[in-house]
Amino acid sequence: MDVSLNIHPPCKKVSFDNKQFATVRSKEINQEDDVKSQGLHFRAYRCPVCSKYHLTKMEMALARWINDIAYRNQLREEAFVRREVAYYNRRNRIRE
Ligand SMILES: [Zn+2]
Repeated sequence: MDVSLNIHPPCKKVSFDNKQFATVRSKEINQEDDVKSQGLHFRAYRCPVCSKYHLTKMEMALARWINDIAYRNQLREEAFVRREVAYYNRRNRIRE
C-alpha cells in the first residue's frame, strides 16, 4: 500500500497527504466502469478536520454545476426565465 494512503483519525476516511496524489487517484477511479455507469464523479477535497485530502463522489450533474461555468449560467438563466414567466402569468391572470 502506498505510504501516502492511510486511515487517518479523527475522521477515519482514507486520506492523502497532498492534493496531487488524491487527484491522480480520483481520476483513476473515474475511469472505472462501475463509476462511469453510475454517473458518479470523484474529486479530491481538503478536509477541514485533518487538513489532508479525501475523495468524495458527486453526481455528474453536481460535478458539472461546480466545474462548468457556462452550464451554471445556462441553468440560472432558465430558472430566471421560468420565474419571470410565472410572475407575468400570475400578474395577468393567465393560466399555464
Ligand atoms: Zn479528514
